[in-house]
Amino acid sequence: MSKINFSNHQSTQDCVVLKFGGTSVSTLQNWQNIQEIIKGHLKQKRKVFIVHSALSQISNLLTQVAEDALTDQHLAGVTKFKQQHQNLIADMGLDENLLEEIYKDLEKVLQGVSLLNELTDRSKAEILAKGELASTIIGAAYLEKTMSESVRWLDAREWLLASRGSNIHKDYLNVDCDAEFDEELTGAIAADDIIITQGFIASNKKEETVLIGRGGSDVSAAYFASKVAAIECQIWTDVPGMFTANPNVTPNARLIQRLSYVEAQEIAAMGAKVLHPRTMSPVRKANIPLRVKSTLQPDQPGTLIEKYPSDLQGVCAVTTRDPVTLVTMETLDMWGQSGFLGKIFAVFSQLDVSIDLVSTSEAMVTVSLDHAQNDLSDEVMDKLSNKLSKICKVKVINSCAAVSIIGQKVSGILSQIAPSLQAFETNTVYLMSQAANDLNITLVVDRDQANKIANSLHEYLIGSKGNTDQFGATATEMKRLYEGLETKVEVASTWWEHKAKELIDLCPNDEAVYVYDQETLSKNANTLKNITAAEQIFYAIKANHNPEVLQNFYKNGLGFETVSEVEVQYVLKLFPEIERSRILFTPNFASRKEYAAGLKTGVNFGVDSSYPLMHWPELFAGKEIILRIDPKTGKGHHAYVRTAGKRSKFGIPIEELEALSIHCRKHKIKVVGLHAHAGSGILQTGHWREHAELLNRCREWFRDVKILDLGGGFGIQDKFHQVPLDFAAVQKSLEEFKKEFDDVAIWLEPGRYLVAEAGALLTRVTQVKTKADQHFIGLNTGMNSLIRPALYGAYHRIVNLSKKDAAITRSATVVGPICESADVMGRDVPMPDTVEGDVVLIANAGAYGQVMSSSYNMREPAGEVVI
Ligand code: ASP
Ligand code: MG
Repeated sequence: MSKINFSNHQSTQDCVVLKFGGTSVSTLQNWQNIQEIIKGHLKQKRKVFIVHSALSQISNLLTQVAEDALTDQHLAGVTKFKQQHQNLIADMGLDENLLEEIYKDLEKVLQGVSLLNELTDRSKAEILAKGELASTIIGAAYLEKTMSESVRWLDAREWLLASRGSNIHKDYLNVDCDAEFDEELTGAIAADDIIITQGFIASNKKEETVLIGRGGSDVSAAYFASKVAAIECQIWTDVPGMFTANPNVTPNARLIQRLSYVEAQEIAAMGAKVLHPRTMSPVRKANIPLRVKSTLQPDQPGTLIEKYPSDLQGVCAVTTRDPVTLVTMETLDMWGQSGFLGKIFAVFSQLDVSIDLVSTSEAMVTVSLDHAQNDLSDEVMDKLSNKLSKICKVKVINSCAAVSIIGQKVSGILSQIAPSLQAFETNTVYLMSQAANDLNITLVVDRDQANKIANSLHEYLIGSKGNTDQFGATATEMKRLYEGLETKVEVASTWWEHKAKELIDLCPNDEAVYVYDQETLSKNANTLKNITAAEQIFYAIKANHNPEVLQNFYKNGLGFETVSEVEVQYVLKLFPEIERSRILFTPNFASRKEYAAGLKTGVNFGVDSSYPLMHWPELFAGKEIILRIDPKTGKGHHAYVRTAGKRSKFGIPIEELEALSIHCRKHKIKVVGLHAHAGSGILQTGHWREHAELLNRCREWFRDVKILDLGGGFGIQDKFHQVPLDFAAVQKSLEEFKKEFDDVAIWLEPGRYLVAEAGALLTRVTQVKTKADQHFIGLNTGMNSLIRPALYGAYHRIVNLSKKDAAITRSATVVGPICESADVMGRDVPMPDTVEGDVVLIANAGAYGQVMSSSYNMREPAGEVVI
């Protein structure tokens, strides 16, 4: 083991290790991309250390060729091997004899296999190694020919030495290597700018070729990064990075921007295929940042894996492993007898089958077996069953899958999973296990249910989170961005797209403005009015109290829901002739004085706590009121918009209703309505019906109730991939309810739904700036006008209106001018080339925009225009 010499260590030039996979090194065009990436690093005065795989599909081909050699049928495969390499050599204009020696060596080993009629692990390793040797010889020759810097080809086997073998195929096919800082290696490459070597291969003490395991080039890169004390190890692949779920199954899966080593390892081990699970350990030990990047989107930051960022917590991914086999073992007559576990585990060990998860009860043990780690052929499983059935009753369930929730201190989120447990109503969970390291909770379920369950868990635990530092764009958005580089980004058309020119003219030069579209306001009012099962719709004016907006809704027959006495007076002043029954007032934690004043106005009055009724009963005597009940489960896109549950300040707990009903009767307070509201941004059609049922049950204590106010929270389509709320289905579900209970009127009180989409914030670009791999676009206004991104992590679509039809060229962080790090309007925003003065539109800003604005930093917030 070489000792670290710090003075020497520090004087070496910064070195970055880049790993490229098979696809990335298979064509001339991809090599040109690699060259650009290398140049970027050289410009920053870094030494570039490249580790790469065999050409695409070559390792599979060589595995087959090795088998074929046993029956002397390897010739066709060898020809294919040569052909693929010669094609690339020809494309690159390199010497056609470049690989003569490799071809000869390969033929020699294959002949040996053929003659001896024996394929040892040792010769398998020799044969497979030819793939990486051949590809790196081509790579080095190409770079030497095309770059002016010095290029050095290394034989990885001279520098990577197997330590001890892993558990399968111990000595040749799956080794671990030593990876301490290597002074000799850094010395050897001191004079070179570009170093290129093989992934996947190493040597053992006997100087024989050994392999690191399939997909092992990632691990090689991590070993070399540690050996040369690289400043970063970059794994270049054809996906944008690690996602919070499998993007093929969950289009909502979000790119993970930052991750700790342990989480990344857990995600890789639990089924994600982006990184080899063994990659993390060497870089973690040496504390070298690891970054996953895509050759298709080199400007994107990808996923950065580093030492426990202290601000990260909670769930970072939901993964699935499929298939998984389950074995349940029930004790026969050995009930309570010691040594049962030992006996059954010994059977697994004899057959070299490693157990993944275990759960035990007094008389039963269930284990799961991972197919990726085991040979679970019929033969092995038969043997296993036979042996086990001598000591217990065995049952094997083959068609299972494991769904894992991954994150630091993951047990802490168990309570959040509750709403998603609906997914399990009709499905069996065979086994549930919480990892001892508290990094995963895994459920073994039926194979055909796994994706559905994973999607549901993902939606609840991750999908609903807004912009955070940790999670970036969704897989669908990334795909659109990438496609946008070639074709125009295709988006659902909205009102502001047709009015782009008018809006650009409206946008002031040095300020910002909110624009509200009358047509869209009316359209939204009509959508809600189509829920004819509801007698009255009250617009929650706190979302936006612009007088022209209110005029529109007034004309459309909506009522108004208010939350302060000032709001009540505002509505009364704006519409002096309005019937009092069209106004609803539900204060929360307001003063006695405000209650008294509100009650005097004669509007519908909601009480959302027992306190006012218990302490100031005289205010309510002889009055009719509506009680706001806590429906227990909050819903919505962010914790701050969920308005139910014991941690929320709203609503009367159901447990208090009985006592409260007695109290009300005693004081002649007439409860005529019951109300519940769970949050904002709800897209489940059944939600309002659930509230109806719940409130209906509470009528048991309040005989005079004739109104059920089911709240609001109707979600809008914030992101492309979201399925818009099906209002026809909402109507149908409420209609059904009404059929059964026709003695109550249904009220709804939406806010955001009515105005969000109808409003946009317009402002101009002030500056742009690039810092490392982050590109910033600055705007004339920020959180002083629109605080939702900072407050709720809310997502707002951001569009460069001046360049509406231009090609998307990069992903940017769009920021305002406020002196706060939280002044970010959006991250990973797909943008065209953007310059100072361009008009930028922030969409869906009609709700909780202007009303929540401030003049923080003494910057006036955006004004308002209605068109
Ligand atoms: N070429 C090897 C394989 O296909 C190693 C790698 O690509 O990571 O498994
Ligand atoms: Mg790979």
